Amino acid sequence: MKRLFFTAVMALMIVPNAFGWGQKGHDVVAYVAEQNISCRVARKVAKVLEGHSLVYYANWMDNASHTPEYAHTSTWHYANVDEGYTYQTMPKNENGDVVQAVMQLTEQLKKGGMTPQEESVALRMLIHLVGDLHCPMHAGHKSDLGGNLVEVLYFGKPQKLHSIWDSALVESAHNWGYTEWQREIDRQPRKEDKKLQQGSVEEWFSETVELSKGVYKDMPEGAKISYDEVAKYAPLIEQQLLKGGLRLARLLEEIY
Ligand SMILES: [Zn+2]
Repeated sequence: MKRLFFTAVMALMIVPNAFGWGQKGHDVVAYVAEQNISCRVARKVAKVLEGHSLVYYANWMDNASHTPEYAHTSTWHYANVDEGYTYQTMPKNENGDVVQAVMQLTEQLKKGGMTPQEESVALRMLIHLVGDLHCPMHAGHKSDLGGNLVEVLYFGKPQKLHSIWDSALVESAHNWGYTEWQREIDRQPRKEDKKLQQGSVEEWFSETVELSKGVYKDMPEGAKISYDEVAKYAPLIEQQLLKGGLRLARLLEEIY
């Protein structure tokens, strides 16, 4: 057991960026998408996922990327952009990044011709990665491993900047289940949804890059983060999870 724990800790240290939003954030993105796709698309998706929902597989990839079979996908959860760079000017990770992965998986799924198993895996990855695409610290600096080397004090406890953005801030913002999150954040007029669904994958990620700049400014090494920051950033987290879900819905409508 101890050994297993040690291995798990080592794996996390080697692939520090692999986790995206915590499980809750990914569930919310997937559920918002579920609520915004047509019945026809929902039926196709359920068939590909062998009767399971989008939420069921929303976190599948975070685990899969730690297994030998899918180790090659460990860099697909993020794209580092250092200060002074944009996604476009930053040297690309040759093992792939979240923008490339979302675009490629979308194209592959549109093209078809995959075995049922391949299609299911590609879809599970897409569900997860559209969430990561909207997670500010997944557009963090390469020099600090996406905020994994920045230590802040979260309600007095030392934590990594990356990790509080994945989970702690989301959980502090609202103590809701994923269905409640969806019900509370996904209530704007259809017209507004359409606006958020516009744009390209690269443009969506550029918004995340901009947000991450603000986070770095506001939460430098040693920053004390508590009630004020939770209140300040809750609306941003709500908006990012909503965007992720609506945009995933758009991609699924295009694919199926
Ligand atoms: Zn991830």
